[in-house]
Amino acid sequence: MKKNECSEVSIYKILPDRLVPWFEKNKRDLAWRIQPTPYRVWVSEIMLQQTRVEAVKPYYDRFMQALPDLPALADANEEILLKLWEGLGYYRRVKMMQKTARIIMEQYEGVFPSTYENVRALPGIGDYTAGAILSIAFGQPIPAVDGNVLRVIMRVLACKDNIDDPKTKQNVSIHLQKIYPVGKCGEFTQSLMELGAMVCLPHGDPLCNKCPMHGICGSEQNELWEKIPVHGEKASRVCSEFDVLVMHYHGLIAIRKRPDNGLLAGLWEFPNTELKSVKNIRMLKKTFGLRDLELKKTAKHVFTHREWHLQIFWAEAKEQYPDYHWVTPEQLRTEFSIPSAFRAAIQVINQAEKDKTLS
Ligand code: SF4
Repeated sequence: MKKNECSEVSIYKILPDRLVPWFEKNKRDLAWRIQPTPYRVWVSEIMLQQTRVEAVKPYYDRFMQALPDLPALADANEEILLKLWEGLGYYRRVKMMQKTARIIMEQYEGVFPSTYENVRALPGIGDYTAGAILSIAFGQPIPAVDGNVLRVIMRVLACKDNIDDPKTKQNVSIHLQKIYPVGKCGEFTQSLMELGAMVCLPHGDPLCNKCPMHGICGSEQNELWEKIPVHGEKASRVCSEFDVLVMHYHGLIAIRKRPDNGLLAGLWEFPNTELKSVKNIRMLKKTFGLRDLELKKTAKHVFTHREWHLQIFWAEAKEQYPDYHWVTPEQLRTEFSIPSAFRAAIQVINQAEKDKTLS
């Protein structure tokens, strides 16, 4: 094949015949592949954004048990919804899903729309998710192109176009749309996803000997896959430092609700303050009238575009300050959604329970 030919039609045409039978033989058993209704595919795709398959599995099962269909999601109490999502992060996703479920209930009489325009117009559904729902659940020839799929295609074609450039994705989508196999649209979409996840790996050596494109792929020889896909320059993350206070009073822990807008909106958190100077600790003590403030842990939490550096302090309060919710560790675990950014604070509480210092 010609090198660096990013629109090599003959290579695109080979893909379905190679990938679909390979997928049918090698696919993983995943819960969302059983009865792939639009609702089930949609929930899985939203959960899988930014999250590994293995991590999603228990969340998906729990979510489907609690909210098995669109009416259940549309009617769900927000606290229950957030609790089901706790630990997955990017909570905006699940709030958006509920908004979408309500729109479908009101505007489409509870039936998931089946045209690209209508699906794409729903909140929280971009090109990729629309493609996944329409091809997998409705059997339509609409590609779902994400980073995994782009990596596979770029490597097969030995194409060095920048995959962070939206034009690259658009170009790949146009070519893929033309070769979708009739009657096997869902399988073809999933075969590309599966190949990217299981064989043409993002980190480490791809498993070319097990790949259905073995012998044809433009990147296999000379280990060109080391240089492909090509990315643009990444924007650096903004770092912030926080002092987090795990304040306890007679076995209860102080938490508060975050504002309704912005990062981690509407979730629960421990009292915290952004570290602006070394006087922070003195300020914390003064604000809460605390005698001792013990540094228990330091932690880092990485979001897509920002990074939090946390110091977790442990302190006994003098009273139950009225601005906070005072809850037991058991309530924290079962009733309140604490974002994983505060995981280190939860670990401090768990340890205190073990050490019997929470009383
Ligand atoms: Fe990726 Fe290797 Fe398959 Fe090419 S042959 S698509 S580099 S796993």
